[in-house]
Amino acid sequence: MDEKQKPVLIERKLETCEIDRARMSLMDPKLIEEKVQERTIDEMAQEMLRHTLREGVETVWDRYEMQQPECKYCASGLSCNRCAMGPCRIIPEHNRERGVCGADRDLVVARNLLDTIATGAAAHSDHGRDIVETLLKTGKGTAQGYAITDSAKLRRIAVELGVETEGRSDEDVAVDVGLGLLEEFGTVKNEICFANRAPGQTQAIWEAAGIRPRSVDREIVEAMHRVHMGVGASYVNILLHGLRTALGDGWGGSMMGTECSDVLFGTPTIRTSQVNLGVLKEDYVNVSLHGHNPMLSEMVVRASEDPEIQRLAEKMGAKGVNLVGLCCTGNELLMRKGVPMAGNHFNQELVITTGALEAMIIDYQCIFPSLPRTASCFHTKIVSTSEKSKVVGSYYYDFRPENAYETAKAILKMAVNNFPNRVPEKVIIPGQPVDLMAGFSVEAIEEALGGTFQPLIDAIAAGKIRGAVGIVGCNNPKVKHDYGHVTLARELIKHDILCVETGCAAIASGKAGLLMPDAAFLAGPGLREVCKALGIPPVLHMGSCVDCSRILVLLAELANALGVGIHQLPVAGAAPEWYSQKAVSIGSYFVASGVYTVLGVMPKITGSQNVAELLTGGVEGVVRAAFAVEPDPEEAAKLIIAHIDAKRKELGL
Ligand code: SF4
Ligand code: SF4
Repeated sequence: MDEKQKPVLIERKLETCEIDRARMSLMDPKLIEEKVQERTIDEMAQEMLRHTLREGVETVWDRYEMQQPECKYCASGLSCNRCAMGPCRIIPEHNRERGVCGADRDLVVARNLLDTIATGAAAHSDHGRDIVETLLKTGKGTAQGYAITDSAKLRRIAVELGVETEGRSDEDVAVDVGLGLLEEFGTVKNEICFANRAPGQTQAIWEAAGIRPRSVDREIVEAMHRVHMGVGASYVNILLHGLRTALGDGWGGSMMGTECSDVLFGTPTIRTSQVNLGVLKEDYVNVSLHGHNPMLSEMVVRASEDPEIQRLAEKMGAKGVNLVGLCCTGNELLMRKGVPMAGNHFNQELVITTGALEAMIIDYQCIFPSLPRTASCFHTKIVSTSEKSKVVGSYYYDFRPENAYETAKAILKMAVNNFPNRVPEKVIIPGQPVDLMAGFSVEAIEEALGGTFQPLIDAIAAGKIRGAVGIVGCNNPKVKHDYGHVTLARELIKHDILCVETGCAAIASGKAGLLMPDAAFLAGPGLREVCKALGIPPVLHMGSCVDCSRILVLLAELANALGVGIHQLPVAGAAPEWYSQKAVSIGSYFVASGVYTVLGVMPKITGSQNVAELLTGGVEGVVRAAFAVEPDPEEAAKLIIAHIDAKRKELGL
């Protein structure tokens, strides 16, 4: 094994378990039960929370409580820490109407929001770039263990980019596609290629509003320029650029990430698997794959089948290696390989507290920096693998496409060698997993419909399916874990509205049993009939967070088939439990693409009535869609149903 595949401890080993335990007060059983019921509807998570509260192992919910009360100026977007003349807070009741530079409340709030959108767009797009670079290296033959898996998709993308395919090998085409897509990040053509997938009417709206994305990086860099002191001073202008930046993410960086992942690892097809903390196996080496990028995790799946790893596992007294997913790396593996899911964002600490996890392999995004603290109470090793995302107390492997397979194997060996350190008395696997169906890429949906979207369009026209909603996003301690996602999905399907889901929303539905065809009994009569005829669930798992771009492609397909703009479709978006900057970018590109979007958590905009009114009303005059905020998922469902009915009426349905 070459030197690079040896782990490097990042900074220092964290042995903080006892400190955390001492800090957390012991609670009486009644209080523990109250907290458990307040925090999550996931029964396995409840079981583990009882354990963590009894044992004094800190979780995200405890830290949230410790942060209360939150600063009301920060919460409303009225604090600014952009330059060294500040920090500034706008406090009108104390006559502080402007920051030191003179920025008023509208500007402070709008700049903060643009900063948030740009951060989210950057995260998605940098992920996309990593995948595109891997495609390029695969074409060049320098990426270890990767191959072109979906040649047809590669060639379709090549045609969009104007790359010659006739008589050329997949590898040669991949090189030109890789270079062509890398160019999209900083193109001087003033338009990004995949934005042409949007219906003509939608593109015309972008042109009229001046928000057609020019290149992925340019919009993000310009956003950071605009939020510098003394640049953007019109809140309207700043927010319009926010929409343009987000469009560069949805139709650019994210879409490239999705498409090239499909080319490399295969376009998802419908498959069944299992979900929740019960996917851990007591007699196996358990390894969770957490983060967003499938580049390493795909290799870990392959390496787990290596006879050498199997033999080592048996030697250590285990039956084999059990890989489980978390968050969106998990979604990527679930969609393509059927790897079972341990859970979503708020399950990431709880999976460690089962005492049955030998290693958690992380790439980037949505990874709690405190995971090594949690792991210090158990034998779990946290293994970081991205140069961008080194975590103090983790064991870092310098993973690159050039050393992918050997790195994956080295990490698995470390995990297997950790199996004898498991303490059997500490192991709690809280129950049985739930079955789910996943893999609903746009192509898989089309195939399930018989090769054309017409049956879906007919079902919508006939009113059997009233409309469709994309439910996306995260977990947030401001919302009871999974309650927002599951309640909203249940309400919508009851009213014959098909749900398509990504990210942690999809995992929540999986845990609640909504991703199996049997869940059709919860749907209204029309949707139930369609689901039964096709053998599909009423809630379709469409993938990870970057795969919200699949939802855009699906919308474009439907709108193009009907000859309308996306804004005319009877559809909506929702993010009931969002927390991340990426979710703000997703919500913004949904709205900018013409999709009415309901948020379950209030963004930090309430400090400016002008900004709030623009985003929930005025922007409709620009992009024909707007945001709404409704924390109660049952009320959110009512808003969405009313919107879908209005759109149906406009279409004469
Ligand atoms: S940019 Fe203006 S409002 Fe922000 S910290 Fe500097 S002086 Fe204060
Ligand atoms: S849905 Fe949100 S929390 Fe979940 S993986 Fe995606 S960005 Fe992270």
